[in-house]
Amino acid sequence: MQITAVEAPDHQEVVRIEDRASGLVGYIAIHSTLRGPAAGGVRMRRYAQEVDALTDALRLSRGMTYKNAAADLALGGGKAVIIADPATQKTPDLLEAFGMAVDSLNGRYWTAEDMGMTPADMARIGTRTRFVAGLADGAFASGDPSPITARGIFYAIRTAAKHRLGSVDLTGRTVAVQGLGHVGHYLCGYLHQAGAKLIVTDIDSAQVARVAELYGATAVAPDAIYGVDADIFAPCAIGAILNAETIPQLKVSVVAGGANNQLATPDDGTRLHARGILYAPDYVANGGGIINVATEIQQISGREAWVAEKLTALDRTMDRILTRARTLAVSPAEVADAIVDEILQPKAA
Ligand code: NAD
Repeated sequence: MQITAVEAPDHQEVVRIEDRASGLVGYIAIHSTLRGPAAGGVRMRRYAQEVDALTDALRLSRGMTYKNAAADLALGGGKAVIIADPATQKTPDLLEAFGMAVDSLNGRYWTAEDMGMTPADMARIGTRTRFVAGLADGAFASGDPSPITARGIFYAIRTAAKHRLGSVDLTGRTVAVQGLGHVGHYLCGYLHQAGAKLIVTDIDSAQVARVAELYGATAVAPDAIYGVDADIFAPCAIGAILNAETIPQLKVSVVAGGANNQLATPDDGTRLHARGILYAPDYVANGGGIINVATEIQQISGREAWVAEKLTALDRTMDRILTRARTLAVSPAEVADAIVDEILQPKAA
């Protein structure tokens, strides 16, 4: 196993990991441990070039610092990427080699699931390190975080609706949901229960059929979701979908969803603001998942009550962000970053 330090000025510690025997190649990026051990999932995917994997790890780990701070967790931000096709290249040896790489950081980084990874993979990684969360079994195992993530997004939608549509009541409101996987599917359940009408899309037609049948949702083609007549758009699939091409198509008043890194560039937050669309910052809206994972890392007893309290506090933070954005007449994305930057300021002695 080769673990090599990588120069990254904005990050606390970044390593390239390579294990020839198992074919593991990837990066672990620790953006900050100011508030506690860096926590963030490991993503397995193919990248066109290795530099793209490093860029992803740097961007995602910084995002985790912001997400964890916004959720008021005693955790810093980190993320790992493994360059491999999860469908064909994920082997027990490779996962164990990754576990050894995580272990070599002595708890400065805690891993969990991200794209391309499952609780069973975490269990395999966990044979080589204790710094792993998102396990299905064990005293503090927190399991699948997506129902809690969806609950947090639902709160964010209600709070954004209060600010822009005048009420948290979603009865009769139309919500367009992009992506009906773990998070999107649970979110549709909450929205349906709250009396909202659903317009949905997914590139997987089986997911669409399931939600259409369960919740009477109207299905549209993936590219059509941006231009539908709806009150709220909830992106719950991939990142960078709010960009120069899609923003002009939107007819909604609110964007609030669970996907990570929804804004293609910081300018897109301003672009939404200029169009009069209220954007609920993604890393605040989707913080429920890491709140759930934190119970495992920090071995918190009475998990349900703790999670409920943290989710309510996160919702108050969203409310504060949207209030301040309105007062200052700026984009909520800008306000969220500024609030977290304040939280991250080292306290004067
Ligand atoms: P998932 O893989 O279970 O679901 C994603 C869904 O999006 C899939 O059904 C997929 O077919 C669909 N999809 C992909 N590209 C699409 C496109 N172009 N148009 C429409 N649909 C498309 O993933 P998930 O766990 O539900 O996560 C969804 C998003 O939320 C991701 O951005 C993830 O990073 C973020 N997130 C998830 C959690 C969590 O707890 N799972 C927590 C925080 C953030």
